[in-house]
Amino acid sequence: MTQSTQIIEELDDCFMRTAGNLMKYYVDEEEQKTKLKQLRDALRDNCIESTKMKTADAIKDRLTSMMELEPERNVEDIVKEYKQAIAEIKIDPSKDIRLVQYDKQMENLDEGNKAESNKGVENTDTDLRMTSQDMNIIDPISKTRMIDPVRNAVCGHVYDRGNLVAMLQRNKQTRCPVVGCTSKDYIDLSQCRVDIVTKMYLEKNPA
Ligand SMILES: [Zn+2]
Repeated sequence: MTQSTQIIEELDDCFMRTAGNLMKYYVDEEEQKTKLKQLRDALRDNCIESTKMKTADAIKDRLTSMMELEPERNVEDIVKEYKQAIAEIKIDPSKDIRLVQYDKQMENLDEGNKAESNKGVENTDTDLRMTSQDMNIIDPISKTRMIDPVRNAVCGHVYDRGNLVAMLQRNKQTRCPVVGCTSKDYIDLSQCRVDIVTKMYLEKNPA
């Protein structure tokens, strides 16, 4: 019984959105840090649990097929082997792709925030805050400002979720509409996840 891929994707989106909200609503830096750490710990625990379940499933499958191939084997032996294999499961969450992706997004967010505050210091009299050229906030599908930005994990391009969904409903076999995109794959909605960096930027810089 493993979490389905879709549930995991929704969950990861949720984690990213929660991180964005924590950054937005916790003004106190220490408090924000603590909350973000709790959130990351929760994600890490979830990564460990789902990997454990996946591994246990794989062990079960292996032993089940072994029972079929070697019917002479003692069931008790197999059960023993199963228990031992389960006990020996070791998981290193630091390499979990979900956690790696989360950390990457948080890092991007942090860099974005720093770049923005540095600009504010250096250019006090001219309005040189990050513009839509620095941060792409224009949806490549509708050419309008994005509302719910999602990043395509395949090529890294960002679109507005609503427009993307509408476009894929019209034609499921659609490639990335960004000019010069090297990906030849059709867009897979499950590969498009909330882009917290763009989302936070949009919230900080209302239209
Ligand atoms: Zn692309």
